[in-house]
Amino acid sequence: MIHQLVYYSRNTVPGGDRAMLTNMREILSISQRNNSRDGITGFLIFDKTWFVQILEGERARVAGTYDRIARDPRHAAATIVNVRDVPGRLFPNWTMGGAMRTPEVQEIYLQHGFGGPLDPTHLKSDQVVGLALDLQAFEAGRRHGLKLAG
Ligand code: FAD
Repeated sequence: MIHQLVYYSRNTVPGGDRAMLTNMREILSISQRNNSRDGITGFLIFDKTWFVQILEGERARVAGTYDRIARDPRHAAATIVNVRDVPGRLFPNWTMGGAMRTPEVQEIYLQHGFGGPLDPTHLKSDQVVGLALDLQAFEAGRRHGLKLAG
């Protein structure tokens, strides 16, 4: 069994989309380094104010990673939505994928019933996982397209 933890938190880094893009890149870069060491996979969603993240891996590693993340001053009020054991990884190919909400993925948000801004206080973990899987598929398709074009 794989342990899966879903949480949300509020961004504390000031600035607009450009500052946030830099922030996301930094976070994903450090996450990819640490998570490949720790056998953690998952997905990080960012929507203006809120982060929502799925972490999956061995139970103690997931707990240790979450504790470290929760202390990070780049966000606040980290709140666990759900923890559970699942039969296998849902994000096996990513040490940590991530997506900012941009106009090009708006359609995916709409398909999951998120016309307006995310309100993580009302999110169910299955909703988050469904959204993240589709965002992951979109990102994978885009990378594949870039590879073909290159
Ligand atoms: P270093 O990167 O060397 O950092 C040392 C300390 O400085 C840490 O306390 C760190 O929090 C702090 N720090 C580093 N950069 C900044 C900065 N730009 N501004 C303020 N403080 C900073 N880490 C993971 O390993 N896996 C994840 O999946 C993951 N997801 C994250 C999701 C979110 C929403 C956020 C905000 C952070 C996430 N992080 C993740 C980063 C995590 O919080 C720690 O920063 C990181 O794990 C620490 O790595 P390190 O031990 O190599 O220390």
